[in-house]
Order: sequence, then structure tokens, then C-alpha cells
Amino acid sequence: MSEARVINLTAVLECVTGLRIGGSEGPLAVGSIDNPIIRDPVTREPYIPGSSLKGKMRSCLERAYNKINGDRPCGCGEPDCPICVLFGPHFNTRHRLGPTRLLFRDAFYTAEQRERARKLMQEMGQEPVEVKTENIINRVTNQAQHPRQMERVIPGTEFEVNISLIVLRGEDENWFLRILAEGLKWLEDTYLGSSGSRGYGKIRFKDVRLDGKPWDRIV
Ligand SMILES: [Zn+2]
Repeated sequence: MSEARVINLTAVLECVTGLRIGGSEGPLAVGSIDNPIIRDPVTREPYIPGSSLKGKMRSCLERAYNKINGDRPCGCGEPDCPICVLFGPHFNTRHRLGPTRLLFRDAFYTAEQRERARKLMQEMGQEPVEVKTENIINRVTNQAQHPRQMERVIPGTEFEVNISLIVLRGEDENWFLRILAEGLKWLEDTYLGSSGSRGYGKIRFKDVRLDGKPWDRIV
């Protein structure tokens, strides 16, 4: 019987289109924009919260596996439910599934990206972030209303993704890996963050590795 172990997945997440994950509004500073993206409070660099990756992958897979629970995440707690086993059963405290198997860490700039951002700032005086001004059209009067400003990370920006998969003694890791591969594909085929239906948030995973070894994601 196989021993319990942790498999570490690493990948580079590349923004194919502009990515927008909203930050907290907070008190608005003078000259700040309406809808800032989320940033590391210390470095001020944009990042992707692990909870954003987890939440989006979970909801895609819930749809794929028909585990829709009204408008709430699946909490069936059944041992054959890939959602509850991998992501944790929502609001179910009586399950016997053991620990949530997938842990998503916050995704920060890759080392190369940090260097590119530093150069961009040095040479152009700007970071890899843009502000888009969008008009909202009033559908009754057909007039443009107060335009809103949306901050987003520019295409080509790269973040380092770290996901840990816990496999308990005797469990079939290939089942877990197949679902994880599907989850990554769903993220690539849909979008991350907000305004996906308007073209934001298309992403791609590159250099996907399991415990440091290249993974072709076919399980
Ligand atoms: Zn479930």
C-alpha cells in the first residue's frame, strides 16, 4: 500500500489578456482609481490570491461533475465526490473525508517577472499594470454614464503558482491528478478574476511540474 505523501505542483501562470482581481476599496486616497487590483501590502506588487485560484477551479469542476448545490459550493461529503475530497465539503462538519487535499498558495511574480517589472519601472516609469476606462451605457436612455476606471495587470505578466496535493495512505493519486489536470484546463478555457465575458483574465499555464519534474498533464 502506498504511503501518504504531498505532491507539489509548480507552474508559471501567464496572463494572455489583462487580468483583474479586485482589491479592497479601503479609504480612497486622493488621485487613486475607483477599482484597484489586489496587491501585496508590503511590496505593493500585484498577486493572485490562492483563494481566487481555488474558488474558480472549484466552481468550474462543480459544473463539470454536476455537483451544483444551488448557488452554494458542494458539501455532500461523499467519499467519491471529487469536489468535497479535494476542495473540502462546504459547511459540512460531520464528514469523514480527512484533510482538504488541495492547498493553493498565493501566486506572486516569478523572479523573471520581478526583474521585468523593475526594468519597466526604471526605463518607462511604470509597472506592468494599466488602467482601463470603461463606459457603462444606460440601456434606457442609451447615454454613457459616469465612466469607471478599472485597474488590471497587463498581458504577458507571469506569476508563480504553487499547489500542494495531499495523498493519504492507499489513495489513488492518479484520480486526484486527473481532476487537478482538468481543473487547470478549465481555468485556461474560461478565465480568472473579473470581467471574463469582456475578454479579461484569459490565462495559460507554462512549465507545469510535479515535484520539480515536467508534467504533461495527461493522466
Ligand atoms: Zn460533494
